[in-house]
Amino acid sequence: MAVWDDLVGQDRVIEQLAAAARDADALVTAEAAASGPSPDASGSSMTHAWLFTGPPGSGRATAARAFAAALQCVSPDRAFGGAPGCGFCEGCHTTLVGTHADVEVVRTDVLSIGVKDTRELVRRAQLSPAGGRWQVIVLEDADRLTEGAGNVLLKAVEEPAPRTVWLLCAPSLEDVLPTIRSRCRSLTLRTPPVAAVADILVRRDGIEPALAAQAAQATQGHIGRARRLATDERARARRAAVLKMPLRVADMGGCLKAAQELVDAAAEDAKQVAEEVDTKETEELRAALGAAAGTGGRLPRGTAGAMKELQDRQKRRATRTQRDSLDLALSDLTGFYRDVLAIQLGSRVALANADARDTLERVASASRPEGTLRRIEAISACRQALDRNVAPLLAVEAMAVALRAG
Ligand SMILES: [Zn+2]
Repeated sequence: MAVWDDLVGQDRVIEQLAAAARDADALVTAEAAASGPSPDASGSSMTHAWLFTGPPGSGRATAARAFAAALQCVSPDRAFGGAPGCGFCEGCHTTLVGTHADVEVVRTDVLSIGVKDTRELVRRAQLSPAGGRWQVIVLEDADRLTEGAGNVLLKAVEEPAPRTVWLLCAPSLEDVLPTIRSRCRSLTLRTPPVAAVADILVRRDGIEPALAAQAAQATQGHIGRARRLATDERARARRAAVLKMPLRVADMGGCLKAAQELVDAAAEDAKQVAEEVDTKETEELRAALGAAAGTGGRLPRGTAGAMKELQDRQKRRATRTQRDSLDLALSDLTGFYRDVLAIQLGSRVALANADARDTLERVASASRPEGTLRRIEAISACRQALDRNVAPLLAVEAMAVALRAG
């Protein structure tokens, strides 16, 4: 199955994409033979705009990239249902590693994608594919387009160049402008089964089976988080700290302290990312703008704007990293109270945090199901507050206090 190998538990989606890739290939071949536009593409499974939706971790971006690779596959091998996408040829390989000249993957590290960046993408989308197949633009965070940017994109999706394919990804259909989604063929991925996630961690990442199973269970079918938990010591330590929080909110002092630590840890994540990339980016831009390298020399006249733009972007990236990190902690916390509820109700579902069973039992026996439900709601309210740009410490403190009472 080649390029589809990394898609876990998405058989239906794979079938649809493989069919489209097959028709897309037939189109390219027919046009090459006739050396002119194909006379009739009706009835084809291929189309110019696709929207991949599904819960976080289901593999939206992975699916889009796999499809992009299949569209660029140049091997005569037809591994899956007669569809291209061998995974090994030049076209597949360069697409999967991100170096194919006709595949642009846009993955934003800031909270929103603006009009300017989108115009640039649209311009790029007009180009004819250098490799003679398809010009593919993967927009991994289509839900982050500002309204203005969405309208710029809409025009491009309405009137695509003949060999241009847009692959948009978003958590749900509602995250994308109705006018855009009505012009896309939509594919919905599901949360993959825990066992399937564990299996791919073992098979692809060579992770030891017991650890893979535990990481898959703890993250409830979120592949990326499961892999990170299984491979990153720091992520495991962070999760362990979060799962201790319910025991630390017995009094007001404990609440405030736990909240502060959670927010500090997220800020620390943002700082680490900044240290890794900001300095390098800044140096590169200085060099590109013609400043004397490493001397802190003056920038040539008229280039301050570009530097300011980079600094703004870095600031926005730090905000998003901090937000993502907090969000991760809040999912872990929700998972914890879901387990508590399961114990309180005597449910027999597998616990996500079976490794923290002692803590779960303690919290379960010291509270009642109604209280647990209220706590889960408090976490969700904190998430919503963060989405509305409430100051992180304020939102997390309010949550910690709500976790305590009653
Ligand atoms: Zn291939």
